[in-house]
Amino acid sequence: MSAHTDTIVAVATAPGRGGIGVLRLSGPQAGAIAARIAGTLPPPRQATLRHFRDVRGEVIDQGLLLYFPAPHSFTGEDVVELQGHGSPMALQLLQQACCAIGARAARPGEFSERAFLNNRIDLAQAEAIADLIDAASAQAARAAQRSLDGELSRRVQQLAESLIQLRMYVEGALDFSDEDVDWLGDQHLSAQLGAAQAQLAQLQREAAQGRRLREGLNIALTGRPNVGKSTLLNRLAGADVAIVTEIAGTTRDVLREHLNLRGLPITLIDTAGLRDSEDPVEREGIRRARLALEQAELALFIRDARETFSDEDQQLMATLPAQLPRLIVHNKIDLAGLPPQRCERQAGVELFISAVSGQGLDLLIEALHRFAGLQDGAESAFSARSRHLEALARCQHHLDQAAARLQDRQLPELAAEELRLALEALGEITGRFGSEDLLGRIFASFCIGK
Ligand code: GDP
Ligand code: ZN
Repeated sequence: MSAHTDTIVAVATAPGRGGIGVLRLSGPQAGAIAARIAGTLPPPRQATLRHFRDVRGEVIDQGLLLYFPAPHSFTGEDVVELQGHGSPMALQLLQQACCAIGARAARPGEFSERAFLNNRIDLAQAEAIADLIDAASAQAARAAQRSLDGELSRRVQQLAESLIQLRMYVEGALDFSDEDVDWLGDQHLSAQLGAAQAQLAQLQREAAQGRRLREGLNIALTGRPNVGKSTLLNRLAGADVAIVTEIAGTTRDVLREHLNLRGLPITLIDTAGLRDSEDPVEREGIRRARLALEQAELALFIRDARETFSDEDQQLMATLPAQLPRLIVHNKIDLAGLPPQRCERQAGVELFISAVSGQGLDLLIEALHRFAGLQDGAESAFSARSRHLEALARCQHHLDQAAARLQDRQLPELAAEELRLALEALGEITGRFGSEDLLGRIFASFCIGK
């Protein structure tokens, strides 16, 4: 149990004007400070209408006073909420009044940090709060809510239990190693190990999906001028954001559009027509396009379905980063008289669509979902972050190492050590073994009042 001696205060509602604005206090002095501002404390968790006053006794606002005594509060400390009007000025005056009588302005994420340090929530849950607040789609919000409920933490804990069992077995076998029984060659052990590996693989798949819904997919739109890149971007965005003209080479800047394609957040980067040019403005556009390409995870290579695959197309394809996966999109099928279609060729998946008529757009969106690893209509069991996936990958590495050590039966002590490291990697997700440094970095990325 950490015992903070200072009391923090922050406006908990979003900046700007609104119907209601909430000021939140947490810490040992929360009750005393609130009593100075809003009168004697009401019974716990009972909303009471009060005037809120500054230190000279002048009324700043009126609203509801709520008191949550420790430990049954969000942070686990004494918490008071002053729910007044959403007036930035009144809230600022209230916060100043609190600071004048002993509170300190909270750092970003400090309420969640205290909740974590007081064991009210674990680290994955604290992150889920931030993810719920930042959710860009209904699916991402639901997934974050499930993580906040502890779904990811429970799954991690289940896997941890399996690893603890394994570790106990291996350590036990080490103690009996002088006897003539081959504990480590036991079928039961290899079966348990295989089960743990499968459990981890399943967790990794689901976490990857949860991360995808949170972090989205960066897609570069490339192709020769006039093939319909801007038209497709506009069509998917449902708004005119890029200039569409019939003169080749008009898209001069890199346009980024954030879209929600049936639950999958994507960032579409419309790159300038990638062609050699003497025009300095256009050349700058091309330079930026190449930079944007480096951040992309997938390229949509757009071409005109009426034309045969030309050398120019080949050359353009060759300019894409070699490792960048690509989808070839044959556009303008309405003009080419072709049906919408998806086919798998040697070069990869190819789609036939029309950005103008909308034919084949469903196939395109489905292909993007598939590429992103989304199944079941872009829903995921819980939200996850890259940090969690990295921890799971480390866990997998150590688990595989443990399996190899047990297999060759040379150094079972090392197998036990690898299992310990695998568990430690898992522990980083819920943060129970996290370093101070890691915790600081995570909470600093939160916004104030959380
Ligand atoms: P970009 O240079 O690749 O961005 O191409 P634009 O989006 O600016 O499109 C060039 C021209 O092709 C415009 O006149 C568009 O209206 C037209 N165009 C784009 N896609 C289609 C399509 O699927 N069908 C038809 N008929 N015209 C299209
Ligand atoms: Zn364009």
